[in-house]
Amino acid sequence: MSAGNPELPEKMISDIEQTIVVTGGSRGIGRALCAAFSRPKTAVYFNYCCPDETGDQTASQIIAAGGIARGMQIDVASEAEVSRFFKTIVGETGKIDVLVNNAGITRDNLLIRMKSDDWRKVIDVNLGGVFHCTREAARTMIQKRAGSIINITSIAGVAGNAGQANYAAAKAGIIGFTKSMARELASRAVTVNAIAPGYIETDMTSHLADGVKSEIISQIPLGRAGSPTDVAGLAVFLASDAARYITGQVIHVNGGMYM
Ligand code: NAP
Repeated sequence: MSAGNPELPEKMISDIEQTIVVTGGSRGIGRALCAAFSRPKTAVYFNYCCPDETGDQTASQIIAAGGIARGMQIDVASEAEVSRFFKTIVGETGKIDVLVNNAGITRDNLLIRMKSDDWRKVIDVNLGGVFHCTREAARTMIQKRAGSIINITSIAGVAGNAGQANYAAAKAGIIGFTKSMARELASRAVTVNAIAPGYIETDMTSHLADGVKSEIISQIPLGRAGSPTDVAGLAVFLASDAARYITGQVIHVNGGMYM
């Protein structure tokens, strides 16, 4: 592990009641997801692509809430790295209760200026990553006949967005993937849903000019940007017993920006 509890003593492993996996957990919405799922007897595994102090900060929040933090540098676009990540998780805890596919990137440009590399990179991370991680988690969830998979899509995947053809295509792909997985895994009591955030204040949106931010906020009926915790609260609900009859849904968290 490169962030979190270094070695898990046998006693700690045998005490684990819930195993949560969050991709892209080092910052933004992913960190809020890790924190929201953290509680005693819960192991929160998360990954990220760039090794820096952000992974440690997420791990500290998980540990402060009483959880067990396990952070690894894993590129979700890499089949081999994702396989190693899930082997570690299943090897340590023997199960996966919740997978949140959250890792995502943007490489925005108008289509006529978009480089093929930026097209491919966004599809590989945002959609390929969901495929790799879901395939790994589903194997374990099918055996256990239980589990919840939550995919973070975007308002852009539903409404489209000029300058984000690559990102919107990947996020729309996640919606089709979510519905297909919901149908495929329902007979094993595994639910699969998507959350479509609107404009959430994170590093991903911090580069926007102030004028652009105010223009976006003017289109939000609730009159403010969302926070990562607004998204995390819904994910915790979708993974709970209270949501066990909800599958194949795309739930919007956008302050009313898209209805
Ligand atoms: P963020 O602050 O930029 O954080 C992105 C996270 O993804 C980081 O932890 C990053 O790790 C990780 N990541 C990026 N590429 C990765 C890869 N190849 N493998 C593993 N991890 C990777 O973004 P965010 O705003 O929290 O977004 C989280 C999710 O919500 C994304 O799927 C995004 O598309 C979606 N979303 C966001 C908004 C918004 O307004 N913010 C709106 C709709 C949807 P490093 O720290 O190592 O870079």
